[in-house]
Amino acid sequence: MSNRVHNFNPGPAALPDEVLEKVQDELFDYQGTGMSVMELSHRSSHFEEIISSAESLMLEVCNLDPGEYQVLFLQGGASLQFSMLPLNFLPEGNIADYIITGSFAQKSLKEAQKIGKTHIAASTEDGGFCSIPTPEEITHSSSPAYVHITSNNTIFGTQWQSYPETGDTPLIADMSSDILSRHIDMSKFSLVYAGAQKNLGPAGVTAVILKKELLERVPDNLPDMLSYKTHAEAGSLHNTPSCFPVYVLKLMLEWIKNRGGIKEQENINRQKADMIYQVIDDNKEFYRGHARKEDRSIMNITFRLPDEKLEKTFLEEAQKEGMTGLKGHRSVGGIRASLYNAVTLKSCETLASFMQEFCRRKG
Ligand SMILES: *Cc1c(COP(=O)(O)O)cnc(C)c1O
Repeated sequence: MSNRVHNFNPGPAALPDEVLEKVQDELFDYQGTGMSVMELSHRSSHFEEIISSAESLMLEVCNLDPGEYQVLFLQGGASLQFSMLPLNFLPEGNIADYIITGSFAQKSLKEAQKIGKTHIAASTEDGGFCSIPTPEEITHSSSPAYVHITSNNTIFGTQWQSYPETGDTPLIADMSSDILSRHIDMSKFSLVYAGAQKNLGPAGVTAVILKKELLERVPDNLPDMLSYKTHAEAGSLHNTPSCFPVYVLKLMLEWIKNRGGIKEQENINRQKADMIYQVIDDNKEFYRGHARKEDRSIMNITFRLPDEKLEKTFLEEAQKEGMTGLKGHRSVGGIRASLYNAVTLKSCETLASFMQEFCRRKG
């Protein structure tokens, strides 16, 4: 594995070597079928076993009750969820509350506005999305159909540390960039969705975890493919699912479970993020973090250097030392290190010592 890079891509992103090795092992002959998973029928018992273990592993790792929650594996990315949510859960005459903490939150709001009435319960846009609103900064509408948040802001590097209390109102979260990265009470949420390509596996599948009772609200007149009810009733097999990504996602869930589940995963993720933030905090004149300290993300670390020329040199030198994917999103600029579940401690150590050494030379 000597030619593997230190992969800090924002998504699609790193996968664990162990998962890729397993995929390679089973590529030509999945469990004696003489076929790869790409060649199996999605109606075969082998594939049914793959998708049903992926569902139950997801609930197990999230510590959710299978009697209460259901997992769906859909296509169309997290972006299709921006539209499916209001189509399914925002009936005429109701209002949905959105908390705007970054560009994906803005996109989800924009889609909902095409479908029904919305209310911006809080926004941190004025501060350049460097923070998460405090409870006092959130003003809900009188009786929202649901409250939507983005749990981790991939582009700006902020993350909710504790979630808004919404009582009986369904709380819905886009967890695309931090699902399964830390131990949280998932039962606070009525629906959570995440494109797989950051923390869960390859691009092409979106995980949706929803409370079964929510399905009663789904209108009957929706096109089949846009209705959560269709997919729930068919166990995500209404049409051909993205079989191969679902399979890799299942391997990823087994990998998380085998290394000690979410608590151990969080431990490792915190160590990784701490190493990088330590260098930023110790060299404040040189590295300027984008996110407010209390709201910093352990998944996406965003920072600027004193000038753009130095940022360019930083990226070039990092690349030469085997680190890739560190260029910040154009709306923030600078550097972004994405430290999703599969990014190793070793990769983060390499980045932290490179940052230290770079600052010593150029600072
Ligand atoms: C990447 C990302 C998305 C977009 O996901 P797609 O699968 O490309 O549609 C949405 N929300 C968040 C928080 C993301 O990080």
